[in-house]
Amino acid sequence: MQDVIILGATGSVGRQTRDVIAAHPDRFRAVGLAARRDVGGMQELIRELHPSWVYMADPGPAAELREDIPAGVDVGADAEFLAERIGEASAGTAVVAAMAGFAGLVPTLAAVRRGLRVCLANKETLVAAGALVCETARRHGASLVPVDSEHSALMQAIGTERAHVAHLWITCSGGPFRGFAASALDGVTAEQALRHPTWRMGQKITVDSATLMNKGLEVLEAAWLFEMPLERIGVVVHPESIVHSMVEMEDGAVMAELSETDMRIAIQLALTWPERLPSPARRIDWAERRAWHFEPPDEAVFPALRLCREAGMAGGTAPTVLNAANEEAVARFLGGDIRFSDIWRLTETVLERMPAQSGTTLPEIMEADGWARREAARWRPVTVGGPSC
Ligand code: MG
Repeated sequence: MQDVIILGATGSVGRQTRDVIAAHPDRFRAVGLAARRDVGGMQELIRELHPSWVYMADPGPAAELREDIPAGVDVGADAEFLAERIGEASAGTAVVAAMAGFAGLVPTLAAVRRGLRVCLANKETLVAAGALVCETARRHGASLVPVDSEHSALMQAIGTERAHVAHLWITCSGGPFRGFAASALDGVTAEQALRHPTWRMGQKITVDSATLMNKGLEVLEAAWLFEMPLERIGVVVHPESIVHSMVEMEDGAVMAELSETDMRIAIQLALTWPERLPSPARRIDWAERRAWHFEPPDEAVFPALRLCREAGMAGGTAPTVLNAANEEAVARFLGGDIRFSDIWRLTETVLERMPAQSGTTLPEIMEADGWARREAARWRPVTVGGPSC
C-alpha cells in the first residue's frame, strides 16, 4: 500500500490523482490533501479519499471546512502545519506536487528534504529553484518523478539508456494561436487564450500554453530532470498532442511515447515508476485513419522559447525572475490589465532589469522572486506615440 499526499488536491492534476487512487484502492491510500481555498472541492475529496489531514492555505476556507468535517480529520491553515505533516510522512510516501506556480516550492522542498518520492506536476518549482531542489534531493535520497506529460514521455523513452541519449525533443501543441501573425496577437482575449486545442488544464498553464511560455519552462524543467545541457533540448510543434516527446539516441534512433491526452497515465506512472498498472485512460484508436503533423515552432511570433533559453543560459536566479515575471504577467492579462503580447514584453523587460545574481539558496530565490513580482507589478505597456515608463 502506497501512502499519497496531494498538494494542489482540488486542481486539475489533483482531481485526476483522485481518479487514479480510486481506481486502485488496494494499492494507494491518500493520507493528506492540500489546497488553497476550494472548500466544496475539498469536502468532496475528503468524502471519497478519507485522508487523515487536510491543509487549506487561506485561513477563511480552513475555518469553514472545520465546521463540517468528519471526526479524525485534522485541518490546518498555516505553512508550519503542512511542513510538519510532510516532515513526519512515513518513508515511501509519494507526494504529488501539483500546486500552481511558485507557491509550490516550499512544500515541495519539505517533501524532498524528507527523502520522499516527489511526483512533480509543478514545473515552476524546478524552473525557479532547480539547483536547490535537485541538490537537496540528492542529499536526502528523494526521487523526482515527472508528471508533466512531456517529461513522463522522455523518462519512458530514455528507459535504461541514459548514457546513449543525444538529444531530447519536446513536443508542443502550438496552442490556440498557432499560425497567427505577430500583429494579430495583441488583440486576442483571455477567453481565446483559455481555449486550449487538446488539453483541459488550470488557467495559468493554459495561458502559458498559448504564449508557449509553458514549453520554454518545460525545456528548463527537462534540463534539470535529465541533467541535459540546453543546447541538446529542442521543441517540435505537434498539434495533435499524441506523441508526447521524443528521445534521439546517439545512433540516430528516435524513441517516443504516444497516448491519448489523458493525464491519468502520467500521474499513475509517476506513482509507480518503473512499475506499471492498468489504467482506465482512453486508448489510441489505430483503426481510425489519421495524420500526425510536426513542424518547427515560430520563435519570431512566439518569443517565449528564446526568453526561457536565455534565462537558462544566464543561470543563477535568472530563471526565478523569468518565472515570477511570467506568473505576474499572466495574472495581469487574465485581469484585463495588459494585452496578450505584453506577457512577453513584461517578462523580457523585467529580465533585462534584473541585477546579476548567481546564488541559488532559498533566501536568494525568495528575494529574486519578490523583486521580479514588484517589477512586474509596476511595468506599464509602451503606447505608440505616448510616454513609456
Ligand atoms: Mg506539459
